[in-house]
Amino acid sequence: MIYLTQQKRVLASIFEKADRPLTPVEICERARTDLPSLGIATVYRAIKQFLEDGQVRLVEVPGAAPHYESAARHHHHFFVCQSCKRLFDLIGCVRGVKSLAPQGFRVKQHEIVLYGECSSCAVDSSKS
Ligand SMILES: [Zn+2]
Ligand SMILES: [Zn+2]
Repeated sequence: MIYLTQQKRVLASIFEKADRPLTPVEICERARTDLPSLGIATVYRAIKQFLEDGQVRLVEVPGAAPHYESAARHHHHFFVCQSCKRLFDLIGCVRGVKSLAPQGFRVKQHEIVLYGECSSCAVDSSKS
């Protein structure tokens, strides 16, 4: 029981410190620094619990695997690297999105996804 609590604490801190949304596999890899024997099933179980607690949210972006991020994050958008399939946070938002809607329509939310290559993949492809 104590060990389970420790696992959850390590996993929760990964979400808090994450610089971008993570897949369960990425979370597992990061957690293994502190919990070398951590299994992916435990990561999935913890994520399910965090989702129920409203601590973490699912990030679903077309063209990318399901990722998870801290629910404490403010409004932001994503960049999908089509090369390494990682998801990155974008800083800021686009001005004037609401004005794209037809006259009389009320916009309640929006999604913006940018696709391309992240800085490390862009460097690799310019070399070859
Ligand atoms: Zn990349
Ligand atoms: Zn926005």
